[in-house]
Amino acid sequence: MRKKVTIIGSGFSSLSASCYLAKAGFDVHIFEKNDTVGGRARQLIKDGFTFDIGPSWYWMPDIFEKFFQDFGKKPSDFYQLDKLSPAYKIFFEDDVMTIGDHMDKICQEFERLEKGSSIPLKRFIAKAQKNYDIAINKVVYRPGISPLELITPETAMRVDQFFKTISQEVRKRFKNPKLIATLEFPVLFLGAKPSKTPSFYSFMNFADFGLGTWHPKGGMYEIIKAMRSLAEDLGVTIHTNSAVESIAITGNKALGVSINGSLQNADVVLSGADYHHSETLLPLENRQYSEAYWSKKTFAPSSLLFYVGFNKKLKNIEHHNLFFDTDFEAHAREIYDNPKWPKDPLFYVNFPSVTDHSMAPEGCETGFFLIPIAPDLEDTTVLRQQYFDIIIERFEKRTGQSIKNSIIFSESFCVNDFIDQYNSFKGNAYGMANTLSQTAFLRPNLKSTKVKNLYFTGQLTVPGPGVPPSLISGKLVSELIVKHI
Ligand SMILES: Cc1cc2nc3c(=O)[nH]c(=O)nc-3n(C[C@H](O)[C@H](O)[C@H](O)COP(=O)(O)OP(=O)(O)OC[C@H]3O[C@@H](n4cnc5c(N)ncnc54)[C@H](O)[C@@H]3O)c2cc1C
Repeated sequence: MRKKVTIIGSGFSSLSASCYLAKAGFDVHIFEKNDTVGGRARQLIKDGFTFDIGPSWYWMPDIFEKFFQDFGKKPSDFYQLDKLSPAYKIFFEDDVMTIGDHMDKICQEFERLEKGSSIPLKRFIAKAQKNYDIAINKVVYRPGISPLELITPETAMRVDQFFKTISQEVRKRFKNPKLIATLEFPVLFLGAKPSKTPSFYSFMNFADFGLGTWHPKGGMYEIIKAMRSLAEDLGVTIHTNSAVESIAITGNKALGVSINGSLQNADVVLSGADYHHSETLLPLENRQYSEAYWSKKTFAPSSLLFYVGFNKKLKNIEHHNLFFDTDFEAHAREIYDNPKWPKDPLFYVNFPSVTDHSMAPEGCETGFFLIPIAPDLEDTTVLRQQYFDIIIERFEKRTGQSIKNSIIFSESFCVNDFIDQYNSFKGNAYGMANTLSQTAFLRPNLKSTKVKNLYFTGQLTVPGPGVPPSLISGKLVSELIVKHI
């Protein structure tokens, strides 16, 4: 008889693992607490407007190709992928930068701001490309079991890059604060401050300038739909509205999971829910990490999000827009060092309907506004409204148009929703940050050390936050399961 794997949650990492495990011959069942699959990457459809609730940046297309290739497929079998041109726009207090879809265009823009800067930029991106090749081909697809995984001839030659930060590396080469902010932006996806992120992670800059920014027609949820369809074709059974209440244990073995008070037996339990929450489903003696452990970790930010329908097309905007018109350092301190609601927040706005007309009714615009904030902040309706007003006013000023009266509806999502909807630790949005002391074998384990048939996947474990890492996490954990069971 086929061995049964029960997977908790249906985010990218769980869906990825489910495909690999079904292909390996397991009887796979996913139990998801919400009524739709996708976790943080779910979709909101309202009055003809389509919103991705979470991720909107499609970076590292090679990782998606690798995933589908493992099943004899390609992304284009499921969705149409377009390279965005320009990739994105950055609004500063006194200028606007446009990041093109090719290095030549980006070099021109750098030269406009700092004469001669295209030369160090090309060198920086060439180094970032080497790091990308090493990271993707030699490091990231390893399960984080031993420190030796990080030691390859290539990483040994670059050991200094693990002890210098991306901030130091960028500031050594560029003086213009706008160029510095632009080059520090990609590592924000890793969840920590650029001044705490090793310079080896400049591979994110190659992902940005070298590989470009892409958009699946219909939105990021098309990837979830693709993975769901692949999983079901491979024989995975998906149960929604099925919150796991506990993981049943006897001795050091998991018997299965409890849903609505009844035990669902399994040979293997794999949790793709937030790691901290997953461990609270266990008796105390079977948990690997204490509350003290979690509270010492650097968590990636939470977010205050607004999903807004506009009854007109907006001007002077692109698909992705960063508003870096206030002090980056001050906002970062309010997220990491002295957590509080930011005085003058940076924010990001996504208008997918600028390039993809399927995302909004004709003549309208779909807008997704995101303010990164510290996890665990007080979250009230009054605070949400206050920040909505602040960013709408700033948006109007920077883009030179009035939008307030064109809002048909606006829905918000913040710390309390992350906790309520995903059982997220302190309402984090992007999991646990990738810092030097939270990399690879220093992250929470893929395989439990206390329960022999219990495994974990997702953005709090290896390799880290983001959609591409979640796909990889699902592959890594399924390889461990196949090896051990
Ligand atoms: C606002 C936002 C913007 C982002 N932007 C980007 C981006 O542009 N690009 C990018 O690459 N990444 C981005 N990310 C990060 C990316 O979305 C995540 O890293 C990834 O989706 C995490 O997937 P996961 O499988 O680890 O977890 P999740 O998606 O959180 O999945 C976990 C699932 O477990 C379920 N669950 C929890 N508890 C239980 C239980 N007891 N029983 C059953 N089910 C349970 C949850 O409901 C959820 O569906 C963003 C994230 C957010 C929130």
